Amino acid sequence: EWECPVVDETTMMCSRDGIFFGGDSAFGPKNIIWAVAHGHEAAISIHKYCNKEDLQDRLPRGVNLVSQKMGMHEWSFSNDYDGASRRLMPHVDLKKRFKKLDIEVELGFSAEQAIEEVERCLNCDIQTVFTTKLCIECDACIDICPVNCLTITEDGEEQELRTRLSAPAENLEQDLYVSDGLPHTGRVMVKDEDLCVHCSLCAERCPTGAWDMQKSEILLPYAHDEADPEKSNVAKIAGA
Ligand code: SF4
Ligand code: SF4
Repeated sequence: EWECPVVDETTMMCSRDGIFFGGDSAFGPKNIIWAVAHGHEAAISIHKYCNKEDLQDRLPRGVNLVSQKMGMHEWSFSNDYDGASRRLMPHVDLKKRFKKLDIEVELGFSAEQAIEEVERCLNCDIQTVFTTKLCIECDACIDICPVNCLTITEDGEEQELRTRLSAPAENLEQDLYVSDGLPHTGRVMVKDEDLCVHCSLCAERCPTGAWDMQKSEILLPYAHDEADPEKSNVAKIAGA
């Protein structure tokens, strides 16, 4: 349309050979994060273009899970979840704000309040990961879970299974985690992710390490990974 150049969303090269661009000028209004990502993709393409390599032949993206266990009861993240309600930000009095319009309206939290706010974090980048073959069905994780989102039970049809859990899973939009058959009885471990607060207590209590807390890392190759895949950790982890 209007004879504007068209940009390839993978390589960031436009319909005019050897010209690369991204960001708002390429795809319309997005945010700065997208613009930076386009810059990284363009850098890979420019390197390949200069080396007469195929621009579409790129290292794969991936996700890696890394255990966060640092000791018997220690994790690399703060798992001391606090279910306190969200704290309201204190503001400068309205009369003062009308008298002086260039003052900062939000007063901020004290150090103690900020620490309490941080503990409300659900650590969504840390996942509970279950290894079926390690489970001895001792029920310790079921007993300690503060929100009853774990159940060991007979497998069954999802609709009926949802009614048999420690806390019935009523949000049908949230898939259940259902393990393979457990080694001793063939029953299954079921987890309702909708309830989990990522407190790590199941993994701390588990005597065999069947539950673990693992951090998900997104693996995005950059130009230096493409330039030297032999030395690239991203390439190694992604199996390229
Ligand atoms: S991380 Fe906490 S809330 Fe989630 S399953 Fe384990 S014990 Fe339950
Ligand atoms: S605590 Fe560990 S071994 Fe015991 S039931 Fe839970 S996952 Fe299985």
